[in-house]
Amino acid sequence: MSRRVGVMGGTFDPIHHGHLVAASEVMASFSLDEVIFVPTGQQPFKAGRDVAPAEHRYLMAVIATASNPRFTVSRLEIERPGMSYTIDSLRALRESLGDVELFFITGADVLPQILNWKNAAELWSLAHFIGVTRPGHALQPVGLPEDGVSMLEVPAMAISSTDCRLRVAAGRPIWYLVPDGVVQYIGKHDLYRSSSHEEVSA
Ligand code: ATP
Ligand code: MG
Repeated sequence: MSRRVGVMGGTFDPIHHGHLVAASEVMASFSLDEVIFVPTGQQPFKAGRDVAPAEHRYLMAVIATASNPRFTVSRLEIERPGMSYTIDSLRALRESLGDVELFFITGADVLPQILNWKNAAELWSLAHFIGVTRPGHALQPVGLPEDGVSMLEVPAMAISSTDCRLRVAAGRPIWYLVPDGVVQYIGKHDLYRSSSHEEVSA
C-alpha cells in the first residue's frame, strides 16, 4: 500500500498550536503516515503584507515539530523563486516522494479560496483535500468537488498567527498559544516587535 502523506501549507508566521492540532487530528482520522509542513515562499494572496523572512518561519516550524517523529518540514516552497502555488508544490512532492497518496490539509477559512487557486481543476487529481474546522469560520465546501474534499471537526483553537504577531508587538504573552521553543525563538530574534524584520544571517 502506498504511504499516506499529509501536506499542510501555510505562512506559519509564526506556527501555532492551531496548526499542530489540525495536523495531528487529520493524521489520526485519516491514518496518515506523515505530515509535511510546507512554509510558503512568496504568496499570491499575502502580497503586500510584511511577512517574516522565510528562514525564520521555516526554523520555527522545525522547532515546533521536532518532538513528533511523524511531522516534517519542507524547504520546497521557500527555496523556489517567485510565487508559491499549491499546484506546483503538490506536483513536486509527488515527484520526489514517489508512490504516495497526498492529503492536503487546510482550515475552514482557506477552503472558499481554493477555487481561485492556480489550476484549481487539477488540484483534486493530485491530492485529497481535507478541510478542518476553525473558530469564526463556517466549514462549507461550496463549489468544491464532493469526492475530492473531506471535512473534519477538530478541537476549536481560537489562535491565529495574526493575533500572535499583534500580541508580541503589544508586549502581551503568546505562551501556550505557540510551542515554548517558538516563544523563545521569537524573543531571541526579536521578531514581530516592529514592522521591520531582521534578515537571518546564514
Ligand atoms: P495569518 O493570521 O497570518 O493568516 P494563520 O493563523 O491563518 O495566520 P496560516 O499560516 O495562514 O495561519 O494557516 C495555514 C493553514 O492552517 C491554513 O489552512 C489555515 O486555515 C490553517 N489554520 C490556521 N490556524 C488554524 C486554527 N486555529 N484551526 C484550524 N486551522 C487553522
Ligand atoms: Mg491565514
